[in-house]
Amino acid sequence: MNTQLSQSIIYTNKASCRDCYKCIRVCPVKAIKMKNGQASIIEEKCILCGTCIKECPQNAKQYRRDTEKVKSLLRENELVAVSIAPSFSGIYSDKEIKRLPSVLRQLGFEIITETSVGAEILSKQTNEMVLKSSTTVINSTCPAFVNYIEKYNDELIDNLLPLKSPALTHAIHLKEKYGDETKIVFVSPCIAKKYEIERDENLGLIDAAITFEELSELFTEFKLDLMNCEESDFDEISSKSSSLFPLIGGFSKSADLDTDIFSTKTLSVNGFDEVNNSIQFLNEENHICFLDGLFCKDGCLNGPASNSSKNIYQKKFDLQTYVESKPEIESTYNDNLFISTSFTSKKVKEDFVSENEIKNIFERTGKYSPEDELNCSVCGYDNCREKAKAVVNGIAEIEMCLPYMRKRAEKRSDKIMESSPNGIVIINDKLEIVQMNPAFKKMFMCSDSLIGKRISYLIDPEPFIKMITGEIDKLETKGEYRSYNLVCHQIHYKLDKVNQYAAVFVNITKSENDRVELQKLKSETIQKAQELFDHQVNLAQQLAKFIGESTAKGEEIVENLIKLTEKQNPS
Ligand code: SF4
Ligand code: SF4
Ligand code: SF4
Repeated sequence: MNTQLSQSIIYTNKASCRDCYKCIRVCPVKAIKMKNGQASIIEEKCILCGTCIKECPQNAKQYRRDTEKVKSLLRENELVAVSIAPSFSGIYSDKEIKRLPSVLRQLGFEIITETSVGAEILSKQTNEMVLKSSTTVINSTCPAFVNYIEKYNDELIDNLLPLKSPALTHAIHLKEKYGDETKIVFVSPCIAKKYEIERDENLGLIDAAITFEELSELFTEFKLDLMNCEESDFDEISSKSSSLFPLIGGFSKSADLDTDIFSTKTLSVNGFDEVNNSIQFLNEENHICFLDGLFCKDGCLNGPASNSSKNIYQKKFDLQTYVESKPEIESTYNDNLFISTSFTSKKVKEDFVSENEIKNIFERTGKYSPEDELNCSVCGYDNCREKAKAVVNGIAEIEMCLPYMRKRAEKRSDKIMESSPNGIVIINDKLEIVQMNPAFKKMFMCSDSLIGKRISYLIDPEPFIKMITGEIDKLETKGEYRSYNLVCHQIHYKLDKVNQYAAVFVNITKSENDRVELQKLKSETIQKAQELFDHQVNLAQQLAKFIGESTAKGEEIVENLIKLTEKQNPS
């Protein structure tokens, strides 16, 4: 039995994942695992709501494309029908709607029809079932909602409407009308439908479920321009109200149930928060006739792959305008079609996490008291406890707690500053001292009592002023501080993204003294050489008297000797 979600309907493109945790934050059931900074979907937990796909800022979350399957169905079969979900009338413009049947025919479909035909058949059976039921009936047309009940609220499984969805009902109807061999492709804004058609009990009814986004990709691939097609009609027509089911409360309306917003018999909810609250409400022993839930906020019109940037109210308006334009028809469809179905628990087991394990994770992330639990959700979890549990369960990492990581990084840089042999001072744009390390305090003979005082109290502020006024970004100089008996190689620079400026002082007093000492030694050497020169001249003159050679030759020899000495010891 197929108890798991179909293989990788939703997955993460690891190359694009930038470790921002947004998918975790928006996932209503936290079905995302982080390992080595990479997010991946936990299929057993995922309900295929598609929220992470809509919300990932890097487009790293993707869903399985089934366009190749559609192409091969069209290539290999004579009779392929397309069932198009009623959201199309909110997504496309009026002109596009009129041309949609033509473009679908050009793509190769033989039968072009609206899923709302299935909704019409389903609505009638739903009405009878709800009116007869003594317990609350929960709408089962939204596969993400069904997944949520089967996996996380299985105590309500028996309340799910035991009838197939509009798309599956439509498929049963199409096979009855056109023959079992008819292949069927369903188009909608919903990703969870890809799983619905692959459930064991639904296999063989719909051959491929694609989204409006995928349909648009097919149009592009086959160079089909919707606006260049002629106007034409669908092959079947459904009633007005059956086209309303993508709207909040639309299915109740279609099933002719009490849709008065003040009614206590029907409750129409949309989006995770409302869905969740309504489930809690039912779990508290409350009874209503019908819970009409759509998992997406604002219903299917806002489905995760609707491929439309239209304003949601524009979509609703356009859908309702289209519905109004439909002719009133007398239904001729077989209301007694066998569309029963059942649902089974796929409960996600919550691993037990002990208080000790949570405490251990808290301690590893610097949380020793309740005040340390910021519950800021930066890690993607609602609070620190949930994050700690996820770490224990192996689906989150310690490093995802950014406040803790920042503190750790600060401590590390503090350590570097504290232990540096070079003096470091940081000032703000008012020339006030913000921070000094021990080496700086020692060099300039001061203490932390100067924090907040102007730097001019200690040293010449000129290099800082040049940076504050924007004249320079960085300055590397030699500084002599006679009152501190100090010579420094110093670098002043602007700190990125904060209005602060730093200076690093490398104490070169000793090497500077050594250099002066060396210079003195060289001068003495030259003086000695000069004395030697005078002595040699004397000696040469006296020798010349004896051997008759020119004294000039002797002078030249000694001068060369001095030049050589100077070259070897440049000042
Ligand atoms: S599809 Fe929905 S349930 Fe699945 S991981 Fe994404 S947000 Fe979570
Ligand atoms: S609300 Fe509609 S689009 Fe969204 S998950 Fe449910 S059926 Fe799919
Ligand atoms: S403090 Fe850390 S663990 Fe707690 S919610 Fe914020 S990021 Fe998550």
